[in-house]
Amino acid sequence: MNRRRLLQMAAATGAVTAREAAAQEKVARATRALPSPRIKDVQVIATAPQGLRLVVVKVVTDQDGLYGYGCGTYTQRADLVVPAVERYLKPFLLGKPADRIDDLWQAMYNSSYWRNGPVLNNAISGVDQALWDIKGRQAGMPVYQLLGGKCREAADCYSHASGTEIQQVVDSARQIMARGFRHVRIQVGVPGQAGYGAGRSDVTVEKLHNAPVFEPEDYMRRALKLMEACRKELGDEVELLHDVHERISPIQAVRFAKDVEKFRLFFLEDPVSPEDIEWFRLIRQQCATPLAMGELFNSPHEWTPLIRDRLIDFIRIHVTQAGGLTPCRKIAAMSELMGVKTAWHGPGDVSPVGHMANVTLDLVCHNFGIQESVSFPAPVREVFSGCPEMKNGYLYANEAPGWGIEVNEAAAKKYPFGANERGERQQLNGGWGEVRRRDGTIIKQ
Ligand code: MG
Repeated sequence: MNRRRLLQMAAATGAVTAREAAAQEKVARATRALPSPRIKDVQVIATAPQGLRLVVVKVVTDQDGLYGYGCGTYTQRADLVVPAVERYLKPFLLGKPADRIDDLWQAMYNSSYWRNGPVLNNAISGVDQALWDIKGRQAGMPVYQLLGGKCREAADCYSHASGTEIQQVVDSARQIMARGFRHVRIQVGVPGQAGYGAGRSDVTVEKLHNAPVFEPEDYMRRALKLMEACRKELGDEVELLHDVHERISPIQAVRFAKDVEKFRLFFLEDPVSPEDIEWFRLIRQQCATPLAMGELFNSPHEWTPLIRDRLIDFIRIHVTQAGGLTPCRKIAAMSELMGVKTAWHGPGDVSPVGHMANVTLDLVCHNFGIQESVSFPAPVREVFSGCPEMKNGYLYANEAPGWGIEVNEAAAKKYPFGANERGERQQLNGGWGEVRRRDGTIIKQ
């Protein structure tokens, strides 16, 4: 029995009015009239408007004016994502239906046989997010509506307070709180050392090499003093966060997580590295410090056990590194069932399209925890219009269809890879330098 006959019968029984039946039939006719868009072209936009290298994938369909953008930014190896898209995904995708997002994600994911690496996951993410953009533009809705609609009005964010001295961090935190933020990440430098997320003072450190120095015990002593000062000067109400950035040994992390428990952090981030995630079990057994982890994750083998066994409190994946929106909405759903909240990684080396994917997940997932705040300087806004907006510590999604972001491709060309914001050639081609202990031992970044 066809849909029209069913509607006629429903109208006859009074289940729907004749007017409602006619309206539903009109929608059904319009839907049938829409052919499935096919992928006609896949392009890569490589741009560094803030000196940070961004990779955005543009998927073009065979329907007039229907295209979408996705973030595939892996800034430290950005130029490798470009051929991964152009030489491998593009020929694979041409002619395929653009409206079968999960199916295409599975096809791309399996097409390399070996999988779960950062370059290929970012390439897949660029296409995946572009397909969600296309579907939103087709529907005339922002992507958050396609995913079920808002669970909240905006995403509560934290901002970064840092300094070489403890008092500088306290002052910086006060300024952030005055701007409306209720959550502040605090990081302080160690005199003469290359602490994470904080400046280095001019003090000379004795060492056996010429690289920057980091000593874990010096860092932990200093961080504990910072937390004590922040609680004393900023009070109990502000939520404090801290990022270890995987720079200490696993057993040091067990002790440090216990030592910071009394400061009631919102979360302690990356106390161990992805290679040491088994240690979370020991940390969990010994203290109630909330734990955030996942910024460096690429593989289900990393996040699944931590979420399944409730060994962390916040899953903190870099969405493009996991392969885009499609896998991350599943990770969020699994996390919700296990009582784990989301805290998607949101640094400057994510494109505005990627930040829209972050805030979209923030809005639609009941188990949202917190979002890292972001600002978009003038050169970024010159290339990307429709960036999400920060207001009083909240991040608001663009309300236009899809991601609501348009890329000015001519402006993007003004900011090529390889130069910083002053046009100077970058020595490490976007990669990170090395940090060593006093004796020369490399430490994780
Ligand atoms: Mg981090």
